Parts: sequence; C-alpha cells; structure tokens
Amino acid sequence: MTLRERRLWKQASVEEIKDFVTQAYNQEVENPCPVDKMRAFTDNIRRTSCGECVICREGILQLNVLAEGITQGTGRDGDIEVITEVSDNLIIGSCCNYGKEVGKITKKIIESDQEQFEKHIKRRRCDAVVCKKFFSYYVAPEKCNGCNKCVDQCLKKAIDGGKDLIHIIDSSLCDRCGECVTVCEAFAIQKAGPVVPKVPTKPIAVGSFDNQLQNGGGLMTRKRRRRSE
Ligand code: SF4
Ligand code: SF4
Ligand code: SF4
Repeated sequence: MTLRERRLWKQASVEEIKDFVTQAYNQEVENPCPVDKMRAFTDNIRRTSCGECVICREGILQLNVLAEGITQGTGRDGDIEVITEVSDNLIIGSCCNYGKEVGKITKKIIESDQEQFEKHIKRRRCDAVVCKKFFSYYVAPEKCNGCNKCVDQCLKKAIDGGKDLIHIIDSSLCDRCGECVTVCEAFAIQKAGPVVPKVPTKPIAVGSFDNQLQNGGGLMTRKRRRRSE
C-alpha cells in the first residue's frame, strides 16, 4: 500500500477508528504470547496508518521492531520502558485517534503482561511456547508409531528414523517451521521449552521405549541448546 492509497484517518469518526483498531487487535487476541501479540498487532496496524505524523508513523514501527527483537531473543534491558514511553507518546502526541487507540492497546499489553516481556528478555523464555527462538520440537517416544511421514516433510533433514522406528529430531538442524507437525497424525511431535523430556538419542523400535526407560540407557533429557543469532 502506497502512502497515497492509505486512508486519511483524520477524516474518520472516533468510533470508526476505534472499531478498526479494535478489529485489528482482535485478530491477535487469542495469541497466548503477549510479546508476539504486540509484534503481530503493530506489524499489521502500522501498514494502515496514514503516515502523516511522525509520532504515529515512527512510533508504531518502533514498537514493532522492539517486540520483534524480543521474540527473536535480542531484547535488551530497557526495552519495556521504551515500549511504555512510545505508547504514552502515541496516546498524547498522535494527530488523530488512530495513533492514540494503538497506543492505548500497546500500553495495556505491556502493563498487563510485563512479567512475560521480562521472561523473554532476561531468561529467554516464552511460557506460551510461541516464539521460535525459545522452544524446540521433539518426538514424544511413547506416541510415535514409526509411520515415517514426517521425514519427507522436513526440508532441513532434521528428522532421523525409518519405518517402525521411533523418530528423533535434531534441534540444531530444525528451523521450527512446524511442517512435520501437520503430517503427524499421532500428535507425537511436540514443543518443549528449556527442558526437553526424556527422548531416545537415536531411532529405536516402536514400543521399545518403555524398556529403555526402565533400563535407563540411550535416553537424554537435554537443556535446549541456544542457537547462535
Ligand atoms: S495519528 Fe497521524 S499518522 Fe497516524 S493515522 Fe492519524 S494522522 Fe495519520
Ligand atoms: S513423529 Fe509422527 S509422523 Fe513422524 S514417524 Fe512418528 S508418528 Fe509418524
Ligand atoms: S519443524 Fe520443520 S525443520 Fe523442524 S523437524 Fe519439523 S519439518 Fe523439520
């Protein structure tokens, strides 16, 4: 959308603007991660700002860049304060209600979910396991039936296994695209936060996992490796 094609929100009514902004927010309301919610909301809403005043145009973009950085694991101390300040600036200084309504929503998000923002920044954790940098996929060995469907789906060749074997995912090759999840009818491919449950270190026969668990051999519970940025 070019600047010329953008709507002149100054000419719209207060209710019209509120409805539009609320509708954009509602598209994300089910998103369980507040940081990703702010990233997606600001990414969407910045595209329909008329761009006439700097506070709205640059402010929403700045919020989007900050939220995106936090979801990518590059958040820094002070980001929360900047997000709050930019939101306040939007509320106070925007030329029309568009920027003000956006600022009210982003301020509400940061105030009600500050703890989650802090966890992303300081502990590199996403409790909702939404942010790709903060989770890994693993195959739950007790659920995998060895159908082998996921292997062909993985363009990164991150899945090891074969017919009738419990498959395993190499986290260092996986880019968290989620494609394998869509073909696994057994719902065996799951997300894990910092600690991954016990899984075999190499493919083993379907059904033998319980024995291995009892014998304690060839299993690993791993702290997820941090990927280099
Ligand atoms: S606040 Fe400014 S940039 Fe944003 S829509 Fe209104 S007039 Fe345009
Ligand atoms: S993880 Fe799912 S798709 Fe892959 S082999 Fe196991 S059951 Fe099949
Ligand atoms: S999430 Fe994507 S890259 Fe990772 S194992 Fe599944 S298909 Fe492969």
